[in-house]
Amino acid sequence: MSSQPPNDDPTSGDPSVDPPLTLRGVTKRYQSGSETVEALVDVSLELAAGEFLAVVGPSGSGKSTMLNVLGLLDAPTEGVVRLHGRDVTTLSDRELTDARRTAIGFVFQDFHLVPTLTAAENVELPTLFARDPEGMTRARDLLGRVGLGDRLDHRPTELSGGQQQRVAIARALVNEPAVVLADEPTGNLDRETGRAVLEELRRICDEGVAVVGVTHDPLVTEYADRVVELVDGHLRFLDGDEPSESGTTAGVSGVVGHGDEHESGRGDDP
Ligand code: ADP
Ligand code: MG
Repeated sequence: MSSQPPNDDPTSGDPSVDPPLTLRGVTKRYQSGSETVEALVDVSLELAAGEFLAVVGPSGSGKSTMLNVLGLLDAPTEGVVRLHGRDVTTLSDRELTDARRTAIGFVFQDFHLVPTLTAAENVELPTLFARDPEGMTRARDLLGRVGLGDRLDHRPTELSGGQQQRVAIARALVNEPAVVLADEPTGNLDRETGRAVLEELRRICDEGVAVVGVTHDPLVTEYADRVVELVDGHLRFLDGDEPSESGTTAGVSGVVGHGDEHESGRGDDP
């Protein structure tokens, strides 16, 4: 545990006040042979509680890299990542693992469910490490909430793609994370199924969880509060939505556009 933040630290040190995740000046370089790839270049971003942030950009622009850095799966080459105001480089490996498990849920394009486990067991799985006796109860409740209360004992192969993704969303939520990170969550789904999954993610945000959806599916941006774009590792803020140096949160209320379209904007695709 670090005692006091340094003087230039813009955060309050209070997890209930500080944004769940912050990137400041994050650069990520990969070395492959003699070549250096800059997957992220000087990226700064503040994620607010309860916001749905869409990260768009072409293939190879750094989206997955950014998600891995946000998810504490990958450390930046330069820059700072803060979880609830805390610089994650101060965390031990064990604390990092704990932080990942308790604060962050992951949803992947290809669902990543365990084929030999039932839906309920898949959702319960992340609770087993903490020997949480309520894990199965919560797993069943969550599956009910995502509309799969009658599929608890089905295995992934007995579920449609959209149902499998909803199981994955329930699993991402089972440890009550502050943030859900979704890499191309609708990438393997047809449009209608994609909408159902996005509505689920939207509901999660409305309960205070921050969701980052990385995508090149334009549908995702319809459901997002805020859209940012990655171009060759550079993050571009749309709608003049630049992060402030003071560290104040550009929260959901301060976001331009996109936010109100998810309820009313159905069925009127361009
Ligand atoms: P996206 O998800 O937007 O398609 P990525 O984050 O996967 O982009 O990749 C961004 C860039 O970083 C690409 O040029 C990719 O080839 C490179 N890259 C990603 N991961 C690695 C790695 N482990 N080693 C070397 N280069 C990588
Ligand atoms: Mg990717």
